[in-house]
Amino acid sequence: MRGDRDGAGAAGAALAGPRLLAGGPIAAEIRFGLTRDFAAFRERWGYPPTLAVVLVGADAPSAVYLRQILRTCEKVGVHGRLVEMSLDVTPDGLCEEIDMLNDDPGVSGIIVQMPLPAHIPLRTVIDSIDPAKDIDGIHPRNAGLLSLGFDGFLPATAQASVEILKRSGIEISGKRVVVIGRSNVVGKPAALLLMREHGTVTVLHSRTRDLANHTRDAEILIVAAGKPGLVTGEMLSPGVVVVDVGINVVGDKLVGDVDFESARGVVSAITPVPGGVGPLTNALLLSHLLRAATDQAELSPRRAVQSPDRGTTDAGIRMSAQPMPSSPKAAP
Ligand code: NAP
Repeated sequence: MRGDRDGAGAAGAALAGPRLLAGGPIAAEIRFGLTRDFAAFRERWGYPPTLAVVLVGADAPSAVYLRQILRTCEKVGVHGRLVEMSLDVTPDGLCEEIDMLNDDPGVSGIIVQMPLPAHIPLRTVIDSIDPAKDIDGIHPRNAGLLSLGFDGFLPATAQASVEILKRSGIEISGKRVVVIGRSNVVGKPAALLLMREHGTVTVLHSRTRDLANHTRDAEILIVAAGKPGLVTGEMLSPGVVVVDVGINVVGDKLVGDVDFESARGVVSAITPVPGGVGPLTNALLLSHLLRAATDQAELSPRRAVQSPDRGTTDAGIRMSAQPMPSSPKAAP
């Protein structure tokens, strides 16, 4: 079935150029619904949910991602709280900060920007996030739920790479889907989600021999390696649909992992970078925040207050000082 495709036909793709799978319009539609839903949440519970974003040190791609998330928070009426930690923070120091966010009833969701500095063990950090606030699905509980096919918080980027296909009307079921990258936040969960959609999934990584041999077999190719220009047009079969998850800063530009110029004459559809998976990731992340905030509020309605030291939220809503119940923990 090599060359089978969705969107434009192979010849059409070569003549007319590929279909661009833009995440922006899909994200705008999701944000539109979220703006209404967050307004209803504020009306019902008397406070806006807060997303806490923990950043350790400055890392260029992370900083880009982070700015986008905080901008999206503003757009939908959510309080985004940036928690900056210095690059030399100890693992204990970072976990203490995360514990405080876990226990802060004003905080509904927590994300910790990756990659972490080498001296911080990833395991310590992912274990320390309350799974009920783990809206980017990195806690072992949520990762386990995903691998078992149950409902938990999904890693938003992996989810976005699949959603962009589904919402663009691209059939996954039965297709040969190749994923480049096996990280816990993108490649691996994307592969699991694509299997859930009944794709026939192959996962490639840095030890894969002859990458092109596998990529040429793909009807759908998801690229999440963090290597600019890793995939070129000659590694693709005509008509393949490509989702480029990579975000790389090259000079003063953001580029993906796919060499767009050489790929555009071969693919039937491709996500642009920027403007593809990224915007959708942020919108999905905020939909997870809404779910987390709603679950927490329903579980413990009196938590609908802000921390005493943060009496006024970004939305300008004055919160009454009530006793702070501790954050509900998900079942172990
Ligand atoms: P990561 O943790 O560094 O993982 C990269 C993966 O790619 C690893 O599995 C690695 O293999 C594999 N890889 C690296 N070089 C390769 C090569 N030459 N050939 C084949 N496989 C190779 O990165 P990540 O966190 O998954 O992120 C991947 C990309 O997505 C980055 O560019 C990141 O900035 C971007 N990203 C985008 C969004 C968004 O919203 N669009 C969000 C998050 C991340 P090994 O396992 O063998 O090392």
